[in-house]
Amino acid sequence: MSRLAYVNGRFLRQAEAGVSIEDRGYQLGDGVYEVWAVMDGKLADAEGHFARLERSLGEISIPMPMSRAALTVALRETVRRNRVRYGIVYLQVTRGVARRDHAFPGVAVAPTVVITARSGDAAAAEARAAVGVSVITRPDDRWARCDIKTVNLLPNVLAKQAAKGEGAFEAWLVDKDGLVTEGASSNAWIVDANGVLRTRDTGANILRGVTRLSLIDVAREAGYTVEERPFTVAEAKAAREAFLTGAGALVMPIVRIDDSPVANGHPGEVATALRSAYIRRAVESAI
Ligand code: PLP
Repeated sequence: MSRLAYVNGRFLRQAEAGVSIEDRGYQLGDGVYEVWAVMDGKLADAEGHFARLERSLGEISIPMPMSRAALTVALRETVRRNRVRYGIVYLQVTRGVARRDHAFPGVAVAPTVVITARSGDAAAAEARAAVGVSVITRPDDRWARCDIKTVNLLPNVLAKQAAKGEGAFEAWLVDKDGLVTEGASSNAWIVDANGVLRTRDTGANILRGVTRLSLIDVAREAGYTVEERPFTVAEAKAAREAFLTGAGALVMPIVRIDDSPVANGHPGEVATALRSAYIRRAVESAI
């Protein structure tokens, strides 16, 4: 079955789908994106991703290209036509097509909207979570507006490639004070020596992860103490547990940071329990 992409209101075979070479997303990285986990064919954490999309667009003065309701239909239809039960759906909205110039186009142009969906391997993801993943640490050299989910991902790309080169799953980014900000495509968490769950606060220069926000809720409901408070790399290496969150990996235990095993080098019980609890709730509330 060939994959289908939604491009500005039409479904096209992905191999043949395209946008103009003068699209500002392609030329200038002038656009934003969102990724929803697809669970049982439905959109997980739908509300949180829509809210962040609207915020990202607002921060760079791109109008919402269509209503949430219409977008929901387009997202679901992309998922359905690609027969995705478990995986992700990706939405990209750019400022549109205009003669190349850094400043916004003089006349209003319609945003470019592209949606793609792809299946994941649920069994492989569970197998990975059962053994845990490793991360490396890298300096956080991104811009100062990481709260905007922009398609400008070059520093993240380079950090992820460095991780891949070292056989790691993710790169944790570290600010000038030695504090972990987040991963190249996920948020960073530890269970500290006191059993407190810690993740960076959103006053810092990080993406406000939707999975992160949901998991704060899930963890508190389960009786854990969660603090949105920074931690150093040394604290993470000495932590009882470490894990990451994101729409792609959901909740993923970390068993190694650089050359240091986390605790006994096996997934922690808190991360493992929270992964199950998060998935249960996400499946139940998916739309
Ligand atoms: N941080 C960064 C830099 C990301 O790119 C992502 C997801 O792509 C996340 C965090 C996790 O965000 P979410 O849970 O909304 O997927």
